[in-house]
Amino acid sequence: MPFKPTDYLPYDFANRRHIGPSPEEMAEMLSEVGASDLDALIEDTVPESIRQKEPLDFGRPMSERELLHYMRVTASKNKVLTSLIGQGYHGTVTPPAIQRNILENPAWYTAYTPYQPEISQGRLEALLNFQTMISDLTGLEVANASLLDEATACAEAMAMAQRVSKSKAKAFFVDRDSHPQNIDVIRTRAKPLGIEVIVGNPDKMDASAVFGALFQYPGTYGHVRDFTDHISALHENKAIAVVSADPLSLTLLKEPGAMGADIAVGTTQRFGVPVGYGGPHAAYMATKDAYKRNMPGRIIGVSIDSHGNRAYRLSLQTREQHIRREKATSNVCTAQALLAVMASMYAVFHGPKGLKAIAQRIHRKTVRLAKGLEAAGFKVDPQAFFDTITVDVGPLQAAVIKSAVDEQINLRKVGETRVGITLDEATRPATVEAVWRAFGIDLKDDDFTPEYRVPDQMHRRTEYLTHPIFHMNRAETEMMRYMRRLADRDLALDRAMIPLGSCTMKLNSAAEMMPVSWREFSLIHPFVPVDQAEGYGILLKDLSEKLCQITGYDDFSMMPNSGAQGEFAGLLTIADYHTKRGEGHRNVCLIPMSAHGTNPASAQMVGWKVVPVQSADNGDIDLDDFRAKAEKHANELAGCMITYPSTHGVFEETVIEVCQITHDFGGQVYIDGANMNAMVGLSRPGDLGGDVSHLNLHKTFAIPHGGGGPGMGPIGVKAHLVPHLPEKSGAVSAAPYGSGSILPISWAYCLLMGGEGLTQATRVAILNANYMAKRLEGAFEVLYRGPTGRVAHECIIDTRPFADSAGITVEDIAKRLIDCGFHAPTMSWPVAGTLMIEPTESENKAELDRFCDAMLAIREEIREIEEGRIDAENNPLKHAPHTMEDLVRDWDRPYSREQGCFPPGSFRVDKYWPPVNRVDNVFGDRNLICTCPPMEDYDDA
Ligand SMILES: *Cc1c(COP(=O)(O)O)cnc(C)c1O
Repeated sequence: MPFKPTDYLPYDFANRRHIGPSPEEMAEMLSEVGASDLDALIEDTVPESIRQKEPLDFGRPMSERELLHYMRVTASKNKVLTSLIGQGYHGTVTPPAIQRNILENPAWYTAYTPYQPEISQGRLEALLNFQTMISDLTGLEVANASLLDEATACAEAMAMAQRVSKSKAKAFFVDRDSHPQNIDVIRTRAKPLGIEVIVGNPDKMDASAVFGALFQYPGTYGHVRDFTDHISALHENKAIAVVSADPLSLTLLKEPGAMGADIAVGTTQRFGVPVGYGGPHAAYMATKDAYKRNMPGRIIGVSIDSHGNRAYRLSLQTREQHIRREKATSNVCTAQALLAVMASMYAVFHGPKGLKAIAQRIHRKTVRLAKGLEAAGFKVDPQAFFDTITVDVGPLQAAVIKSAVDEQINLRKVGETRVGITLDEATRPATVEAVWRAFGIDLKDDDFTPEYRVPDQMHRRTEYLTHPIFHMNRAETEMMRYMRRLADRDLALDRAMIPLGSCTMKLNSAAEMMPVSWREFSLIHPFVPVDQAEGYGILLKDLSEKLCQITGYDDFSMMPNSGAQGEFAGLLTIADYHTKRGEGHRNVCLIPMSAHGTNPASAQMVGWKVVPVQSADNGDIDLDDFRAKAEKHANELAGCMITYPSTHGVFEETVIEVCQITHDFGGQVYIDGANMNAMVGLSRPGDLGGDVSHLNLHKTFAIPHGGGGPGMGPIGVKAHLVPHLPEKSGAVSAAPYGSGSILPISWAYCLLMGGEGLTQATRVAILNANYMAKRLEGAFEVLYRGPTGRVAHECIIDTRPFADSAGITVEDIAKRLIDCGFHAPTMSWPVAGTLMIEPTESENKAELDRFCDAMLAIREEIREIEEGRIDAENNPLKHAPHTMEDLVRDWDRPYSREQGCFPPGSFRVDKYWPPVNRVDNVFGDRNLICTCPPMEDYDDA
């Protein structure tokens, strides 16, 4: 065809970034599901009564170049000063090898929580390294991996102390030298549980009056103290001792275990994770072996696979919310896995000597700083310190802080007359000299010879990080290959679809991710003056407005740093509303049986009674049961927690009535927003009758899952609840905006997509799910559908019949999917023995077909067993997953190696090989090992 100058090709690729199927593929899929076009499918699927009236209007979507330019302009409005504020947030140097190979590597950041251990051995090993590091540094036997931030870790420790303490006392003591945000979050957590919090001087503590106590060192003003005697006093009174400690300082200081502490908590932020305006970073908790079953959070353990080889897995899961629900040790689900991996790699990179050298250098710098100030006549406090001092400057406080800012340095305002200074790994001699200048002192950094300002009895006397993994030759080649090797053991989104229902594993686009590492976002301390964080201010305001428009709520709190934390915050908001209206006695919460485990676990944390509501046969909430229970508890009804669209993957039309009933009986409605990927642009929880919802920005709004965190769970509320948000009624996280530095990802997602793009993503997510349901029909039963036969953005397929017909469990199918190169869908939730499939809009037709082909082939393998053509025990499903080792092992099986290792779906060239065969769960829990096994065990290869 001759070229005509008017024949412009439409350039619409930008909007396709997040939309997997091409227009041609969509046409084919629509015809397969029997819909004339996408509009018709959506009309058919999303009931008219719940549709939003106005389309989203965010103006024109940006191109990637426009976005990155706009982000640069916004970022430049944040002023990066050197923050010596301390208070739990420190400058640190992220080794570039870790920044590039972990933080900026989709093989690590797009992975899911390691529930399927066979495809997660890499990150499980990295997290086991984390636990070993924490266990060593704290001197306690068992550590978890990991918690949301130091303040919530303190609150978790208080709750755990109450669970294990044999003391009858109702109060908890908190060292007044703890960081203020730790005290705030402890208070928030204590209130609904009826715990009295006593903040005071540890020397004046009455150990007989408390069930536990928390001490901190280095204290928020720098104190380094030995709490051995205080801890003995607690133990004499059957009370539990919690110590919050900076793990870097523990390379020099006597460790909590040596003081007799029962629980240690803290943050690993300064192990190479930038402060990021408050997060994300991994908090830690360690405890004595006797208390391990009471510990919150994930614990990695060592087990064996079906050939007796070492394999890692999540252990003691029966403590967790997804199994124990309101009896769980906590509501922690998404934690901070990626950041724990970074921190563990920092320790692997530096080794024990390197860490100690860093700590010594920080201490020496602080000593020189103090000596200079003392020589000039200033009074420095405390006398014994690690990295933090305060200086009494009397009426000059504001002037000194201002002069420091003129030197591009932030100091901390302490009381009315003092200034706090905390040094870190990144502090240079020039920084120390600039601090002196702020005090009017003209000195050179080398004017002082260093000495230790740590009293002898506080010196550490034990070894740590003795395991060979922390003693690699630290040439970067070896380090790079270690990180690559671990990444290659895992299956993340960079290789295959992860069709996890309710978890929304969608694209985290490169352009959205890039600003996270920019210094203007990553190096802002959470407590800087607002005029240094104007860029963040613009982002927070615009993102909140967009989320309000998307959800139909009136305001957002960005404080909660996970979905579960959002639930806790939202329920506290409701509780505060009831209390302020004189209805504080309301404490009953209706929760459908199909709810996510975090829902009942969060309700329990605010002291509420969980009343479960039945589902009707079609999967909907049983309206009669709901009404009857609301009526029965009318006087005490605090509210309900429902998920929309339901966890059964259906848009229930009755949702408006459920909300109405709750309101009629004086309750408030919490709508769990984890399934928002089925709603954005089509329906708004605020319009349905919701009073508060959390959004999982790491599901719907493109923040990566990081192998189990980070996440963000901001809550939206209706106007009447705004005065009761955590900002006003009590902090739920350490930092005011949770994990602030990952908010640019969600903001970028909205800006790149525009309102129309976001709505299209929702529509395609629904199309993809309906296409898969259609293709699997006949081979598998789709458990729940809406009245027109459609599913929402996910569907549940029933695998229970195969238990009877072939002795095949849902787990066998999940493991066989690994051979096909897939991560299994969500297993046995919300219905035991089923798989919940959520493809998201990101996957194209080819990938959906690959998965469906794999599932259909698995169905045929089951049929072979059903028809007696293959042995019920010796078959590809029972032996799944197959490793490369299986190719060279003796083979006595009634199926070929080829059938075993290369079933439909698996790639021939780019085959994913799991590094282990099926992992033995029971063995791991019975023989619990939560630290790196001895090196001899590594020689199996
Ligand atoms: C993921 C999820 C949660 C919990 O969110 P986290 O961020 O993992 O704490 C709560 N409810 C539902 C329905 C979910 O899918």
